Amino acid sequence: MAELRSLVIVLGDQLDAESAAFDGFDAELDAVWMAEVAEESTHVRSSRMRIALFITAMRHFAELLRASGRPLHYVALDAPGNRGSLAAQLAADIARLRPQRLVVTAPGDWRVLQALRGVAEACCLPLDVREDRHFFCSVREFAAHARGRRSLRLEYFYREQRVRHRVLMDGDRPIGGEWNFDADNREAFGPEGPGAVPPPARFAPDTITREVLALVRQRFADHPGALDDFAWPVTREQALEALYRFIDERLPRFGRYQDAMWPGEPWLYHAHLAAAMNLKLIHPREAVAAAEAAYHAGKASLASVEGFVRQILGWREYVRGIYWTQMPAYLERNTLGAQAALPDWYWSGDTDMACLRDAITQTLRHGYAHHIQRLMVTGLFALLYGVEPKQVHAWYLSVYVDAVEWVELPNTLGMSQYADGGLMASKPYAASGKYIERMSPHCRGCRYDPAQRTGERACPFTTLYWDFLMRHEALLAKNPRMALQVKNVARLRDEEKLAVRARADAIRRGEVGSTTNG
Ligand SMILES: Cc1cc2nc3c(=O)[nH]c(=O)nc-3n(C[C@H](O)[C@H](O)[C@H](O)COP(=O)(O)OP(=O)(O)OC[C@H]3O[C@@H](n4cnc5c(N)ncnc54)[C@H](O)[C@@H]3O)c2cc1C
Ligand code: SF4
Repeated sequence: MAELRSLVIVLGDQLDAESAAFDGFDAELDAVWMAEVAEESTHVRSSRMRIALFITAMRHFAELLRASGRPLHYVALDAPGNRGSLAAQLAADIARLRPQRLVVTAPGDWRVLQALRGVAEACCLPLDVREDRHFFCSVREFAAHARGRRSLRLEYFYREQRVRHRVLMDGDRPIGGEWNFDADNREAFGPEGPGAVPPPARFAPDTITREVLALVRQRFADHPGALDDFAWPVTREQALEALYRFIDERLPRFGRYQDAMWPGEPWLYHAHLAAAMNLKLIHPREAVAAAEAAYHAGKASLASVEGFVRQILGWREYVRGIYWTQMPAYLERNTLGAQAALPDWYWSGDTDMACLRDAITQTLRHGYAHHIQRLMVTGLFALLYGVEPKQVHAWYLSVYVDAVEWVELPNTLGMSQYADGGLMASKPYAASGKYIERMSPHCRGCRYDPAQRTGERACPFTTLYWDFLMRHEALLAKNPRMALQVKNVARLRDEEKLAVRARADAIRRGEVGSTTNG
């Protein structure tokens, strides 16, 4: 057997045939290595929808590599002798294939990078970790942006990115004269609801996906989530189709209804592209360029297009920069000292709180919820309840098809749980049930009342919101953006405070909120 020069490692979220790992690839000398290993689905107990999406997308990518003539060593989950973890499988295959070096595009997870480094060291092989060109901003560039700043804020970073990449710019000014159209992008639906929302592109499982669904059903029977509605894009062609369908059909109303919720409507005007982008089936530059072109063609308003661009060129790049400049210490942060266990019904949706039931049920069914459901329903409840951030993190990493740690962790631990003490967000996203009432009709169909903080019908969000302000009064009072909210605590009489505490305790004991106590 001719000697193998490079073994090019392709991870499950690196399904891009143009990635840096393939630079200089020579089919005569090099080979690709991919492995489906159980550990990637069990280090947090991943939902079956997420596991299935990753594996079927990997298998489709493997077909593409084979068709393009790139030699491939692919280890299937059910292959005899599968070692079960990336590190163990790679070490075993290195012993068999004897490459001179390992090549990989920078992994998205800190944990995985450490594992690969460990194997390379143990096998005395050089590991060539290459830049991930998928992003607009490299980690080094983000670190340079962050250096010397007392606090990091999305807005400054985002404006720099707009200028640097010439996105929605008119000379050195933003097109339309404004950087930010958030004020136009916060509408709720009227009483008539969202109307006929154009359905997102959905893709019926092909033979490969059907095999994977059967495998996941059998192998991960005790993992959360359903598989019946699997319809995610699993190839680059499908992901591009999903992108163009979104741009043509839903982008025009994306901005306006970005924060709105409606019962039984999981998709609304969102893009549903995060999973395809995070698996690297499509490039964020393609998404941003397509949205910008829609604006110039007069197909979508500036507010909608800017809102979409901000999420990708802004938030998505920003959270990655935070992740890689803060790990591994970031994972341990818990500024609010939250210690409670995640309520069991997060894994079933069995709660009598209508907003949470809706968000969790659709999450377990589709592996999807939009940003406001994640931030202001499931995330908000966990924040107010005081769930230990690591447990919240494990839930988000498990249940969403787009969940990859570099993007999930800062969103969960930083933005949603304020566990990083304000590095990501200038204040905790703390609100009462009134916020949910404003953005959705959920409260009308709920046994609780968002206006009440105590009593039998008090909305658990509202009770826990006041309890949260009371528990963290001293810390929050130091934050000028929270001062007004905290001042209201002083207006409560002592007996009101006691009643709030007593009901908050009952919620934490599971006497309120769970259907088994209804
Ligand atoms: C607690 C919590 C956990 C989250 N976990 C993840 C995660 O694991 N993976 C993930 O991709 N996103 C995560 N997000 C961000 C966001 O909620 C999802 O990207 C979005 O809901 C995906 O749906 P969509 O593709 O329809 O997005 P849209 O609402 O249509 O937005 C368009 C695109 O913008 C990007 N985007 C939007 N908001 C963010 C953000 N805050 N951070 C990074 N990118 C963003 C995504 O790529 C998304 O596809 C999380 C948010 C919160 C509050
Ligand atoms: S009343 Fe409270 S629990 Fe019920 S839907 Fe409204 S916010 Fe959710």
